[in-house]
Amino acid sequence: MPGELRSSDRVLVREQLGREPTTPFSVVARCAGGHPLAIRNAPLDADGRPFPTTFWLTCPEAVKAVSRLESAGWIGRLNERIGADPAFAEEVEAAHREYAEERERDLPEARGWGGVGGTRTGLKCLHAHLAWHLAGGRDPVGAWVAGRVWPVHPEGAASVAAIDQGTNSIRLLVAEPVEGGFTELARDMVITRLGKDVDRTGRFDEAALERTVSVLARFCRRARALGARRIRVGATSAVRDAADRDELTRAVREHAGSELEVISGQEEAALSFLGGTHGLDPADGPFCVMDIGGGSTEFVLGRAPGASERAVSTRMGSVRLTERFVRSDPPAPAELDSVRAEVERILAEEVEPAVPVREARTLVAVAGTATTAQAFTLGLEVYDPERVHRSHITALDAERTLARFAAMTDEERAAIPVMPPGRGDVITAGSVILVTAMRWFGFDRALVSETDILDGLVLEMLGIG
Ligand SMILES: [Zn+2]
Repeated sequence: MPGELRSSDRVLVREQLGREPTTPFSVVARCAGGHPLAIRNAPLDADGRPFPTTFWLTCPEAVKAVSRLESAGWIGRLNERIGADPAFAEEVEAAHREYAEERERDLPEARGWGGVGGTRTGLKCLHAHLAWHLAGGRDPVGAWVAGRVWPVHPEGAASVAAIDQGTNSIRLLVAEPVEGGFTELARDMVITRLGKDVDRTGRFDEAALERTVSVLARFCRRARALGARRIRVGATSAVRDAADRDELTRAVREHAGSELEVISGQEEAALSFLGGTHGLDPADGPFCVMDIGGGSTEFVLGRAPGASERAVSTRMGSVRLTERFVRSDPPAPAELDSVRAEVERILAEEVEPAVPVREARTLVAVAGTATTAQAFTLGLEVYDPERVHRSHITALDAERTLARFAAMTDEERAAIPVMPPGRGDVITAGSVILVTAMRWFGFDRALVSETDILDGLVLEMLGIG
């Protein structure tokens, strides 16, 4: 299912289409002005009817430019080429297949709904092919259309892209530089759990690695389709701990055209702080950024936004602590007590001596555990980054949310509308870290931030901070 939607995007897409969209959607690509360029539709419309067009072009300028190609007879000519050129036909066939597989990830019953835009053979709609290309699909027709219609707006500066390979998730940010920062062309996240069992085995799980490389490849194609000249791939805890990095290194070289950066705990902390505090009011400092990840949690202190001074990276994370201590579903109280005791031990033995967290006036909580817990606390039906970003969560609310998570089964948590696939089973342990740290250091509330290490990677690429 589409993961998240900003309220402002809902308004913009309604204006772009000239009507209310009939299916839930998320934005996969934007123009440099920030408006949606391509969206991803849910496989079923609001009334539960099949909706085979998964990727849709919405920017009116782009739509017009593609319509001009269609009016000039290019659908017929490209279909003739499919008939005459078996290699081209095979590539188009593969594009349809991959599109259908992508839709099936949302809804297995959608098998057999056809390929790009619901087409079975040949091609019908160039807009659908361009949208698939922009989403990161391997589509010779979409790439050809892009070559003919780009740029649809006067060109800006070249964009850059960063990928954050974490223990639980892989995330993409494509950014167009502007004065003092950037506008976002794409932001996406897929949970592939690369760190599955790495804590125990020290090696990557084969299926997890395969899932991760496939998403990495699609993210890199999307970044290129959006004009990224450089793609930076930073990897954190699970990759630091794994002995067999060769295949991942090769995949990054092939798809991103860059070297995999294995980011140390200290670098991770500095980048989290940069991304998490960028744009905050210096008067609210000192700041402590708490980055709860799947395999590690960082605490980073700094007086001014962007400038970290003291940091510590600990080996506690939502995936790691779940794998170590949680056996029951829902987790038994004694298991959560063990998680809490381990968190308290690490706070006392590793965090306290390294970072004077209590000196901070503002605690900034970044990454998926905090943002998802906050979306749930706010009662959101759709994950809305605009509602979550820079909102406050009180310690009391965080405790209530933890209690609600702890009472649910993995299945019940996974069914929460704002829960990304793959986070439901580890968010309880993640929330124990959040709540225990807030109480330990005496924070009544935390500022929840959508921007984090991923933004830090991009800001550093752009020479900001
Ligand atoms: Zn546009």
